[in-house]
Amino acid sequence: MKYASEFRDPVAAKAVLAAIARTAEGIGATREKPLHIMEICGGHTHAIFRYGLDKLVHEGVEFIHGPGCPVCVLPMSRVDEALQIAARPEVIFTTFGDAMRVPGTQGSLLQAKASGADIRMVYSPLDALEIARRTPGREVVFFGLGFETTTPSTALSIQQAAREGLGNFSVFCNHITVPEPIRALLDDPDMRLDGFIGPGHVSMVIGTHPYDFIARDYGKPIVVAGFEPLDLLQSVLMVLSQIAEGRAEVENQYARVVPEHGNQVSLAAIADVYERRPSFEWRGLGEIDASGLRIRAPYRAFDAEAKFGVGYGAGPRQVAEPEGCACGAVMTGKIKPTACPQFGRGCTPERPLGALMVSSEGACAAYWQYGGARAAAE
Ligand code: SF4
Repeated sequence: MKYASEFRDPVAAKAVLAAIARTAEGIGATREKPLHIMEICGGHTHAIFRYGLDKLVHEGVEFIHGPGCPVCVLPMSRVDEALQIAARPEVIFTTFGDAMRVPGTQGSLLQAKASGADIRMVYSPLDALEIARRTPGREVVFFGLGFETTTPSTALSIQQAAREGLGNFSVFCNHITVPEPIRALLDDPDMRLDGFIGPGHVSMVIGTHPYDFIARDYGKPIVVAGFEPLDLLQSVLMVLSQIAEGRAEVENQYARVVPEHGNQVSLAAIADVYERRPSFEWRGLGEIDASGLRIRAPYRAFDAEAKFGVGYGAGPRQVAEPEGCACGAVMTGKIKPTACPQFGRGCTPERPLGALMVSSEGACAAYWQYGGARAAAE
């Protein structure tokens, strides 16, 4: 496949793996004392397992899986609020498929749909807009989810609804940002991270400068990476090279896609439609300052929280995770999914306890899909 096979070339991969091994040994990294490299993005976690990169890299390099799966970090309280909105008889609730099976305290959207709620899977907020145009007698709500990658498309759909005066369209906004949880992880005294693989798709929108604080304030290297095996291997080598040379910088391995200053059209739409919430709850991580977005006052008519009286400001927030669930520890990289007592026992893709097991970018789903089921059985 043109433009993909070049990044899967086994001869080139062997050469990069050898360079990684030489550099890791030069730093003194061993199986007993490995370097901890966190891949922030759930898409990278899946690519690492799909291509077996965790087994191929030198034993002195350990991948730590980060919190970059937006469905996984969606707290139970927000799923409950989504169910509350979806239960209203006038509402058509639209969502990406990934969020359908995420459990709240009262079940999932899929279970609510089976019980009769009008919940529909869409591929884009523009699909939800189209449903609103065709059904003027119903309230169409879009479940706005995701990091900076999906934030612009939701913003553009709100701007379009405003232009058309589409009063029966609104967004239940759960958009979140990547840099703030990284800062929270770096401030966590229990974490020991030596460097980061930066997210590719998010960076396509925000550019590389929002990560400057990682190198400047915490002295850690970060390399923004693509999603093919050679992208990831080269990025690991770039992180290791920085450590070996005593540097801490923001580097861009994915320059063929990620512009240094991001996508200006997307950034303008984000600035027009959203503002920061003072804080936002993350599943397993608690409240993180300024890590969530809400819809600005000029677009309040399209804010489902205001329209239906749910969300922040409408009552108590935090909902405890199920007993024995270790999602928070997995999402912060403190333990591997197979170390969760529920993995493969109380929590499977068929009967998930945590969102990490059902999201296409979840670390537990990756372990399960690429051999974890076997590991759990063993
Ligand atoms: S196995 Fe299930 S309960 Fe355990 S961390 Fe993963 S998603 Fe959470």
